Amino acid sequence: MFDKSTWIKLPRNVLQGHGVLDDLADAVADLYLSGDPLLVTSPSPERIAGDRVRAQFDNVATVSLDRASFESVERVVEVGREHDAGYLIALGGGKPIDVAKMASDELNCGFVSVPTAASHDGIVSGRSSIPEGDTRHSVAADPPLAVVADTELLAESPWELTTAGCADIISNYTAVKDWELAHRLKNVEYSEYAGALSQMTAEMLVQSADSIKPGLEESAWIVTKALVSSGVAMSIAGSSRPASGAEHLFSHQLDRIAPNRALHGHQVGVGSILTEYFHSGPRGEWQDIRDALSTVGAPTTANELGIDDETVIDALTTAHEIRDRYTILGDGVSEDAAIEAATITGVI
Ligand SMILES: [Zn+2]
Repeated sequence: MFDKSTWIKLPRNVLQGHGVLDDLADAVADLYLSGDPLLVTSPSPERIAGDRVRAQFDNVATVSLDRASFESVERVVEVGREHDAGYLIALGGGKPIDVAKMASDELNCGFVSVPTAASHDGIVSGRSSIPEGDTRHSVAADPPLAVVADTELLAESPWELTTAGCADIISNYTAVKDWELAHRLKNVEYSEYAGALSQMTAEMLVQSADSIKPGLEESAWIVTKALVSSGVAMSIAGSSRPASGAEHLFSHQLDRIAPNRALHGHQVGVGSILTEYFHSGPRGEWQDIRDALSTVGAPTTANELGIDDETVIDALTTAHEIRDRYTILGDGVSEDAAIEAATITGVI
């Protein structure tokens, strides 16, 4: 008997381009939502674009958050209930989007993502990541109903945020390899379609790497397009697998051992050099990953991340403990092997 079934949740409207922020109300009207919006943002995006968002709606409340935390989620839920919000508009980099994603899940309403930085694929995906103590909670939620990515705004964000977004995409290479490996060895469910889309996204970004330069609005365009398609791959898979393998475990472990030292995308990029080395050895494709990262101006060494060598080795040897996700790290790499990999690849 045929008993397979699947449920794919995707954003319905994706607007990308110069000045599309002013089309936000149209994009929302096209979703046939009811009720008034609650704008979830943080101080600097509020300064840059808060008024432009509010000008498009009759009755909109605003919550401005200083950080992503469970208290912030609770605050948004409270204000959302007080104002009887019909949906949330998340305006900002990672933080307001992560918080709005989780709050909309609790409020049982949808949210619209309006990224002001193209720094990671969370701007489109259904996964929310909130720090708590020395760890991060990654929670599955619904993806945004719409994404409105104004390249004019994105191009004005600090350049390292864009290179972090690029590195997060480049890391799809090793994420897909880990996923395939987990499928072969542990019978983890694998989607050919999602795997191919994720890998192709990374390839297309690398092919356009020469057009990714500070001050070019086209850079924001290329990266946002890649983040959207990476998010779609995750939606198709119904998990973060297409865009998150051992390099992400390594980064999560760095967040625990050495918090707030480097950007998420930059950490996973360096992690990807290391885990590619484990996949394909000294003459393998880690050099291609390193070259792609350095072409877009993302870090390729511990030093450039601002993290000392011992911490990198510590994170690499303990990353497999983070969560129950089978990767090339298996049940852990030894310290000697970690040092050898990091030395050969020039990470330390
Ligand atoms: Zn990522």
